[in-house]
Amino acid sequence: MEQLLNVIERTWGYRELRPLQQPAMQAVLDQRDSLVVLPTGGGKSLCYQAPALLRGGTTVVVSPLIALMKDQVDGLVELGVNAVQLDSSLSGMQRSVIEVELTRGDIRLLFVSPERMATPDFCAFLQRLNIRTFAIDEAHCISHWGHDFRPEYRLLGRIKELFPESSVHAYTATATEKVRLDICAQLRLKNPEVLVGDFDRPNLSYRILPRGNEDQQVLDVCNQHKGEPGIIYCFRRKDVDSTYAFLKDRGFNAMPYHAGMEPMQRKVVSEAFAAERCDIVVATIAFGMGIDRSNIRYVLHTSMPKSIEHYQQETGRAGRDGLEADCVLLYSVQDLFVWQKLMKKSAEEAGATQEFIKSILKHLDDLDRYLRGSICRHKYLVEYFGQSYANPNCAACDICLGDTEPVADSTLIAQKILSCVARVKETYGVNHVISVLRGEHSPRVLSLGHDKLSTFGLLMDHGAPTLRDWIFQLIGQGVLKQEGAEYPVLKLNDASWEVMRKQRTVKLVQVAQPKEAGKAKKSKKAEESWEGVERPLFDELREFRKNLAAERGVPAYVLFYDTTLRELASIRPTTRAALGRITGINEKKMTEFGEALLVIIQNYAKTHRVDTDVNVAPRPEAPPKPWTKPKDADNPRTTVGQAIQMFRQGRSIDDVMEQTGRARGTVVEYLSDYLHIDKPADVNAWVDRVTYDRIAAAAVKLGRQKLKPIFAELDEKIPYETIRIVLSWLDATNA
Ligand code: ADP
Ligand code: ZN
Repeated sequence: MEQLLNVIERTWGYRELRPLQQPAMQAVLDQRDSLVVLPTGGGKSLCYQAPALLRGGTTVVVSPLIALMKDQVDGLVELGVNAVQLDSSLSGMQRSVIEVELTRGDIRLLFVSPERMATPDFCAFLQRLNIRTFAIDEAHCISHWGHDFRPEYRLLGRIKELFPESSVHAYTATATEKVRLDICAQLRLKNPEVLVGDFDRPNLSYRILPRGNEDQQVLDVCNQHKGEPGIIYCFRRKDVDSTYAFLKDRGFNAMPYHAGMEPMQRKVVSEAFAAERCDIVVATIAFGMGIDRSNIRYVLHTSMPKSIEHYQQETGRAGRDGLEADCVLLYSVQDLFVWQKLMKKSAEEAGATQEFIKSILKHLDDLDRYLRGSICRHKYLVEYFGQSYANPNCAACDICLGDTEPVADSTLIAQKILSCVARVKETYGVNHVISVLRGEHSPRVLSLGHDKLSTFGLLMDHGAPTLRDWIFQLIGQGVLKQEGAEYPVLKLNDASWEVMRKQRTVKLVQVAQPKEAGKAKKSKKAEESWEGVERPLFDELREFRKNLAAERGVPAYVLFYDTTLRELASIRPTTRAALGRITGINEKKMTEFGEALLVIIQNYAKTHRVDTDVNVAPRPEAPPKPWTKPKDADNPRTTVGQAIQMFRQGRSIDDVMEQTGRARGTVVEYLSDYLHIDKPADVNAWVDRVTYDRIAAAAVKLGRQKLKPIFAELDEKIPYETIRIVLSWLDATNA
């Protein structure tokens, strides 16, 4: 394992593993079959890629989509790993070259489609190569119970038979218990190690909005994320076309993507998006899979997907780099009805069993319940996948952020709506009930004499969209029903009567008015992850990456992830040593781009006068110079004087940064000045007690001359600035 960690650091530049990556890789090293279930972005690929480098021989990776394979192969080659894909786009010549390389054992990872894996010739070839390791990506495709069954995956069940010596490792992002068992059974895994990760994606924030003025809603989301990459999913091709045209007209850098386009055109779009030449892809749900980019900052669904699994997978494409991202869905119950009809029809045409049809409709229902629900989105999703969620407030969903608020007099409103349904004798649909409640003198209402009903005009102060939304909330809560496929009508049930008899209360919600106009609340994660990042420098680095990607014809994210760029823009390293400590900078990247990055950072720091090497110990670390009092320390009109006054009042570093506009490193210097001048009794206002004790103890052991040994002693977990504060105080008070 230690060797493996070295390989990972050297090749990928990662210094830590994500949850479950270690046991997952151990299973590969031990040749033990495994099933690894990690959410999208959880880091499944590393689980088979890294061991493949260490183990010699070739690992065969089965993956359902050529586009997905291509991205992985590009990424690996960029890292200096010998990986190839065999697919039908290759010429006979290219194929022979690859076959020779495979025979020589030069190739670490071979990516193939399930169809190819099923051909006898190809299997015979692999048998001659003595393949020992198989990785099956998107393994849920093998299960009938999954949401994305692909018949060609069934043939993978023969691998164990044809390669009895091999170990098979299955990976998926979405699988309920039933699907998990089925995957193991279908692939005939022997005593598999089953690893199921945490399904929560805390960096994603989920929002469900009632679909109203769709164009405006789309515009709002895109405006909030100007210049950032996003995907917009639409229901049909024509929605894709119209949404795309709408955005294009408003100057957005968008491209369309759907099945009706030529494969070549689709490729152009995928590549433009990956190379950061295009910000927004407007796509149909069915054809988004080949679009992959790790720094997608938002996914907007303008309609309902067909299962929670799909929703999770589609939203899961956002924020794969672990940074914050928004997932917004525009909901309307119409979509549910359209899907129900469509799915029943296509399943029946395909001759599916009743049981299968029931299973797909249930998937749809589960999603609908989620969308209408009023419990935390993170909690619902996590529990759907069979895990528990203890956090009482996720701080990253519409429910927890208070995007919605309770409607005053909910129960009274519900009673009015339900009585109206009763008065029209449970034989009319939503629209008619709304007309009556709003007191509309329409020909239909008048001809039926419904203007004479006691419920006529009972809710005339509310708009039709609002009433519609409330009615569907009542349906969602089970106190009202909608029946009939062609012309659905509203019906009452026992629960409705309980509400009308005041034996039961109802809670309706509405979209809260934002406190600051036009500004959506940011999740906590979003605020944290930009902390200390020099935004203009980040943008410069992005531009650098974009040009580099264009030059090399590879997707931008295979060069650097956004996480790496943000780290560069917040730490701002100016030496190769400091640069080498940035996550994602491996030896190869250092050699190729190290100098260029340092130049960009140094120039930026010079022109913008910002600190560099924030939180990085100077190297070699000189012993600290004795403290001297700054000459302006007592003048409150100078920055240092102002800072010292603020610290005297016990204000935080962040406060002082905001007030003075100075970088963190500089403000910590001011704090040190204050500590030397005032010698306060403690530093509790800036360092918590436990951390203080640990640093002080380390300082006793290692001396106060250098920060780095203390930093190392404390497992590199405590920021340099915190150590710096404690040492300054010890120095000042001569403790
Ligand atoms: P999945 O296949 O599970 O959706 P990926 O394998 O594509 O996820 O990984 C998601 C992202 O996380 C990628 O950008 C990948 O490089 C990154 N990643 C994976 N493992 C680590 C790690 N240990 N440290 C840092 N980044 C990682
Ligand atoms: Zn929540």
